[in-house]
Amino acid sequence: MRIVNCVRGGALLGGAVVLSLFATSCAKGPGMNLPGMLRQVERIPVVFQGTAQARLVIPADASKQEQDGAALLAEYIAKSTAARLDVAKEPAPEDGLVAIHCGATAYVKGLNLDVAKLDPNGYVIAFPDAHHVVLLGAGDTGQEYVAYEFLERYVGVRWLFPGAVGEYVPARPDLTIPAESVRDEPRFQHRLFSGLGKEEKPEHKGEQGQWAKRNRMHDRVKFHHNLWQLILPEQYGKTHPEFFPILKGQRHVPQPASGKTTAQDVNAQCHWQPCFTAPGLVDEAVRNICDYFAKNPQATSYSFGVNDSGGHCECEACTAVDGGRTNALGIRDASTGYYTWCNAVARGVNATYPDKRFGLLAYSGVYNPPPGLRLDEHIVPFNTYDRMKWANAEIQRKGHAATEEWEKAAPVLGWYDYIYGGQFYVAPRVYFHKMAEYLRYGYKHNVRHYYAEAYPSGDWHEGPKLYVLLKLLWDPNRDVDQLLQDWYACAVGPAAAPYLAEYFQLWEEFWTQRSPQTAWFRRNGDQQYLDFGSPGYMEALTRDDLRRCEELLNRAVAAATTDAERARARYFLDGFVARKSEFEDGMPLRDSASTKVVATVVASAFDKDTDGWGNWQRDYAKATFTFDAMTGHVASGALKVDATGSQASPLCFTRQIPVTQGKMYRAAVWIRNENLASDATVSLTIKWKDEKGGWLGVGERSASADAPKPGEWQKLSVCFKVGTGERWSQVRYAMLLLTTDRTDQGSVWFDDFQFEEIEPGP
Ligand SMILES: [Zn+2]
Repeated sequence: MRIVNCVRGGALLGGAVVLSLFATSCAKGPGMNLPGMLRQVERIPVVFQGTAQARLVIPADASKQEQDGAALLAEYIAKSTAARLDVAKEPAPEDGLVAIHCGATAYVKGLNLDVAKLDPNGYVIAFPDAHHVVLLGAGDTGQEYVAYEFLERYVGVRWLFPGAVGEYVPARPDLTIPAESVRDEPRFQHRLFSGLGKEEKPEHKGEQGQWAKRNRMHDRVKFHHNLWQLILPEQYGKTHPEFFPILKGQRHVPQPASGKTTAQDVNAQCHWQPCFTAPGLVDEAVRNICDYFAKNPQATSYSFGVNDSGGHCECEACTAVDGGRTNALGIRDASTGYYTWCNAVARGVNATYPDKRFGLLAYSGVYNPPPGLRLDEHIVPFNTYDRMKWANAEIQRKGHAATEEWEKAAPVLGWYDYIYGGQFYVAPRVYFHKMAEYLRYGYKHNVRHYYAEAYPSGDWHEGPKLYVLLKLLWDPNRDVDQLLQDWYACAVGPAAAPYLAEYFQLWEEFWTQRSPQTAWFRRNGDQQYLDFGSPGYMEALTRDDLRRCEELLNRAVAAATTDAERARARYFLDGFVARKSEFEDGMPLRDSASTKVVATVVASAFDKDTDGWGNWQRDYAKATFTFDAMTGHVASGALKVDATGSQASPLCFTRQIPVTQGKMYRAAVWIRNENLASDATVSLTIKWKDEKGGWLGVGERSASADAPKPGEWQKLSVCFKVGTGERWSQVRYAMLLLTTDRTDQGSVWFDDFQFEEIEPGP
C-alpha cells in the first residue's frame, strides 16, 4: 500500500501552528515554493489506521546503538500510534511490510551512502525505494541520534524538559513519512553543560542525563584543570623539584594534605603551574600521556588545562620567555612559555598517537594567544566568558576582538560559557536570541566546541533555555522564534502557548535590556562571569513584573486543553510560586522620606578611634589601613585606606553585626576619595554568617559608587530585609564590608556609619 500526500511537515504540530510555520519559512526562503505549489512528495507508510505497515530491521551482529535505536523507535511509535512495529534481525521476511533499516544491515552496506565523510555524530536517512527506509549513523553516536531525529522529525516527539511530564508524544492513527533524504551533522562538535549527566544530583534519577542525551549533548574534548595530574607532586616532588615553579623567589613543591594527590587535595591542584621551561618536562609529559592513551585506547583527547588560580613560574628562564607583559585581564601574561610547551608535547604525543587531541583553558594568565606563535592543529583552546555580558556593546566589542585574535592563533576554537541558571539565579536567566547571535558569530569565526557551566535546577524554571541552546549547537542557523513557538505549543498547547511565550519573553527582555543597566552589571567590569552570589540584578525588577509573571502562568494553566498541557503549565506556575519568597527576599527595599527608623543598631562616628572595625586584604596585598584623626565628614576622625601596594585587589574594613530574620535594615556610610584609578569602585557590602561565624552563601546586598568624585563626601546607602526562607535560616550576623577595589593608588575615607532597623514606607 502507498499513501501519497502533498502536505509536508504535518507530523510536526497541530493545525494553527503548522500554518504559521509555513508562512514564516516560505516568507524567508526565496527559493521555496508556496504551500499551494508544493510538489508531490511520495510518502512511505509506517502505520495506517493503527496498523503497522513497516518493521524495524537491525543487522545480524547489531551494535548496542543499533539495537537500542530500534527499540526506542518501536516504543515511541507505539506510544504515538498504538501500533507496535516488529524489530527483526536481518534478513527480514519479504511480506510486503516496509523495512526500516536501523544501522548497517547487509542491504544498507550494498548502498553507497558515504557516511564516512560525515562527523561521527552525523547520520543519513535514505529512501532507496518504496520498500526500504535507511537510518544510518556515521558513528555509534550518530546511530543513536538518527533514532531521535526520526522521532522528532516524523512522529513529532519532543523531549521538552527532563522527566515524564516534559515528554511530548502526539497521538496519531497514521504515520507516513516523506521520501526525502536527510543528511545532517552537528556544527559544534563538543556540546556539553555542567550539572547534567555525570554530575546530576541523585534525586533527579538520571532523568536530566537522559533528557540531555536525547537532545544530543555530547562530550568530546577534555580541557579542564589537569596539569596537577600530569605532573604529580608526590611523584616528582623529590626526584624532579625543577618541574615545579619558583614563586616569590622560592621553589614551590605543592604538599598535598594527605601526602597523596587526590581530587580533594585542593592545595595540590591550585596556585601553581609546572615550570614550563624546565629541562625534561616535555619528555616526561609526553611519556605520561602516551601511557594514558595505551591504558585508555578509547580516549580521543587529553587535557592540557592549567591548574586553577595562577601560580605561573617566576624563574629567570620563564620570565624571559614570557616577556614581562600584562594581558587583557590585567595579570601577568604567561602565554608564550605555556603554549610553546603545549605545542612540543602535542607533537611528541602525536608521533605515537596521531589523531589524539588536546583541549585547554585559555583563561587567567594564558587568556591571550601567544604573540607570533600558532597552536598545533590538535590543540583546542577554550576561551572563557559569560557571553550574556555581550548584551553590553562595549563588552561585546572586546569579546569579538579576543575571539578574532585567537582565530588567527589556533586552527580551531572552543568556547567556555557561564550560562548559570536555576541553581544560582532566582530569576530565569534566559536570552535565547542573544545566544543564537553569539553562536552564529562564533561559528563564523571557527568556534567548533562549546562548554557551559549551566547547573540547571530541578524545577527547570528556565524552560526552553537548554533545549534551544542544544538545537543551536547542532545548527546555529535554526530559527529561534520557530524553535520557541514549537516548544511552547508542544508544552502547553496552541491556546496557552502565547502566555508561556510572553512569560519567557519578559525574562529575556529583563536580562538583555534591563539587567545591563544595573550597578550590579556595571560593577562586574571585565570579569569573566556575572556575580550570581548577589541579587543586585533584582534592582531592575518591579513588583508589577512578578504580578505579571504569575498572571501569565495562571492564564497558561487556564487555557491549556489537555491534562498533559495543564500538567506542564502547572509545573511552571508551581515552580514560580515556590520561588516567590526568594524574590521577596532578594528585591531591594525602596528608601524614601516615609521610611521609619525603629532602632539604631550600630552608629560609628569614628571621632576617637576605629570603633571596633577590623580590616582585611589578600595576603599578597600591602595596602595600609589607618584611623585618620584629622579628616572627617561632620566632625574630625575617619577610617582611611591607602591603596598603594594593593595590586588593585579588594581592601575591606569589616564589622560583624547581629541581625534577626524577617526584620528590615538600612546600612549607610559616607565616603570620600583622592587619586583613585579610573575604574576603581568603593562599596558598602553585606555578607552573611552563621552562629559560629561561618560564611553563608546567601545573596549579598550592596551599594556602590562606580566612579566616586574625588574630594567630595558622598553617601552610600542600602535597605534590605533579612529573609525568612529556608536559605536564610542559618543567618545570625551581617558582615559589613566597606570595600575599595580595582585601584593600586590613592586613598579612601569612610565616616558616619549607621546600621538601623527600619520600617519602609509605602
Ligand atoms: Zn620556570
